[in-house]
Order: sequence, then structure tokens, then C-alpha cells
Amino acid sequence: MSYLKERILKDGKVLPNNVIKVDSFMNHQIDPQIMQEIGIDFYYRFRQAGVTKVLTIEASGIAPAIITAAHFKVPMLFAKKTQPSTLNNQERYETDIHSYTKDVTSRVIISKQYLRADDRVLIIDDFLANGEAALGLIDLVEQAGATVVGVGICIEKSFQVGRQKLEAKGVPVHSICRIASLENQQIEFLESN
Ligand code: 5GP
Repeated sequence: MSYLKERILKDGKVLPNNVIKVDSFMNHQIDPQIMQEIGIDFYYRFRQAGVTKVLTIEASGIAPAIITAAHFKVPMLFAKKTQPSTLNNQERYETDIHSYTKDVTSRVIISKQYLRADDRVLIIDDFLANGEAALGLIDLVEQAGATVVGVGICIEKSFQVGRQKLEAKGVPVHSICRIASLENQQIEFLESN
């Protein structure tokens, strides 16, 4: 069984509304060893894709994204949920993203300076549920005229529609582990290995 599945089974808690809490190693306290493994995993999966930039959304995407970017030796860029006073409307791309866990919609922004039409962008996030975060990030990349080479997800909840939506857009999705069900508070993975 993979390192991440083992850790989810050991320390993950299933909350109502199909949410898994992984605060002890990914979303609050962060285990650098797990992040290192995740970075290597994404690097091997996308190493032929000519990645020039890794993109995520604050806050919990930042840890896996920065380690992944370090393996590719490219910059990591994160979409900001707060509006920096230093960046006017002409200098930024923006999109609205609905948060699965908080049930609020936030306007997120990136500076035009850091995303160029010739960038080949790997999107990284901690979870994939309904795909709102990843689709919002794809929208930002498209506004810049850049190319999304793939989406790398640490924990995919495969019983939700996120993967289908991304695949319908023709975007390659690689998830380190895929959860088939959280019924009765039990974590069932899609693949048994
Ligand atoms: P989506 O946008 O795909 O609906 O949801 C993904 C985003 O919501 C991720 O950025 C993640 O922060 C959050 N999220 C979705 N499901 C879960 C979950 O089960 N646990 C945690 N901790 N975050 C989740």
C-alpha cells in the first residue's frame, strides 16, 4: 500500500459531508517526508510534459506545490484569495472559485507578471472533490493564453465529479490516491495496491 494511503488510514478522520480531515500531516501540521514523496511522484508522472510553472491555490495546495516545483526546478505560483493593494485590475487575472469545505465563493487572483502565454503549467492541489478549484486555476491559465499540461492531486475523492469535469476538458489528471467511498465513515480506496 502506498505511503499516502497508509497515512490517511492511520491519521485521517472522516467528517460529515464527505470531508476528510488530514490536519496532522497535510492541512495544518505538515509532514515534510510525505510532501517529499508527493513531489517525487508528481515529478515522475509529468517529467516529460515540459513544465515551466507549478500553479496552486492558497493555502493547502502550497506545500505539495512548492516541493513539486523544486523537483522540476521551476517557480511555484499560488492564486491569492485576498486582493493585494499593490496590484491593480489591469495587472491581474481573476476568477471565482467555490470552496467545497467552506461553502463560500472567493475571487482569486494572480499577477499577469507571473503567467505568460508560453508557460506550460502543472496544477497541483491537495484534494479533488467537485473540481471547482482546479477549473478556476485552469481558467486563470487560459486567460494568460498559457497551456495546462496536467493536474496533480494528492487525494482524489473519486465518487465526486471533479475528475470527470477535468477529463471532459481534455486535461490529464494524476491522483496519488483515489478514494472510492467514505460511506459509514469508512475510507475505501479505488485501487487495492
Ligand atoms: P473542489 O474544488 O474539487 O470541489 O474541492 C477541492 C478543494 O476543496 C481543495 O482545494 C481542498 O482544499 C478542499 N477540499 C475538498 N474536499 C476536501 C476534503 O475532503 N478534505 C479537505 N481537507 N479539503 C477538501
